[in-house]
Amino acid sequence: VKRSKKSGRTEVYQTRAFDLARQQFSVETELRRAIDGGALTLSYQPICDLASGRIVAFEALTRWTTERGVALSPCEFIPVAEESGLIVPLGRWAMHEAMRELAAWDAASGGDCGVSVAVNLSAIQLQRDQVATMVRDALDAHGVNGRRLTIELTESAIVADPDRVTHTIRALKDLGTRLAMDDFGTGYSNLAYLQKLPIDTLKIDRSFVSGMLADRDKVAIVRAILSLAQALGMQTTAEGIETNELAQTLAALGCNYGQGFLYARPLPGDQALRLLSSFNQ
Ligand code: C2E
Ligand code: MG
Ligand code: MG
Ligand code: MG
Repeated sequence: VKRSKKSGRTEVYQTRAFDLARQQFSVETELRRAIDGGALTLSYQPICDLASGRIVAFEALTRWTTERGVALSPCEFIPVAEESGLIVPLGRWAMHEAMRELAAWDAASGGDCGVSVAVNLSAIQLQRDQVATMVRDALDAHGVNGRRLTIELTESAIVADPDRVTHTIRALKDLGTRLAMDDFGTGYSNLAYLQKLPIDTLKIDRSFVSGMLADRDKVAIVRAILSLAQALGMQTTAEGIETNELAQTLAALGCNYGQGFLYARPLPGDQALRLLSSFNQ
């Protein structure tokens, strides 16, 4: 344990197993401060129509640079946020911030800027009845039409408590929002929910997409997801497109949309708006 001269706080540096709990606690404490103190930001990654190449949406992804200047991956801090319950204020912040940015893009464009924004909702948030109220408040606060918002859910969100979640999902749909099933194919749920829930889009997980050109099994899985979506009247977005060849192959297979480093990495809001005007002119 070292004492920071600057802040006088005690910071934990050990990585031994028995200190992991304490380390998690310090991450949690600092994350709480980051949410309250405005230290989080959102980056925006374009989602493109594979046929035309036009940007149709941006996915909002939370970014956190800690007080020591370390940029942590959401894969590291979102699980901590979920375990500690901090995902509720974090998710509320992200929803409000994403709607604020979308309204700012519209204002800068002199009207509807032409894209929607996708925001991730954690299973823990979905299990709370108030989540639709939270989303409505965020839309209202920034005068955004619900049709401009896509909510990304994971299969784990649905497995936990299907009946309760069905009710909440309908309340979200009543706001006009679109629903996307994120990381589709990686959950371990049965597929019955696809019939029952008003899901608009399946996002094919990156693990099936990247490397699929050299792997017939991955192609088979991608094809199966595409035909499932088509049969159920859902749209499809492929995650993790890093090459032109992949984009062309997916378009030829009938996938609607694509997201990945080929188009752009997640960008700060002002850069995302500039990308939009250069892409879609
Ligand atoms: P996700 O929702 O599946 O988001 C897509 C992730 O894939 C992002 O990682 C993005 O940067 C990355 N990605 C996009 N294109 C490519 C590509 O071509 N190649 C590679 N290798 N990666 C690509 P990121 O931003 O690190 O976020 C990771 C996960 O953290 C997200 O996965 C999402 O599940 C979660 N997350 C991020 N922000 C939030 C949030 O505000 N709320 C919640 N509940 N979860 C969030
Ligand atoms: Mg997502
Ligand atoms: Mg995803
Ligand atoms: Mg993913």
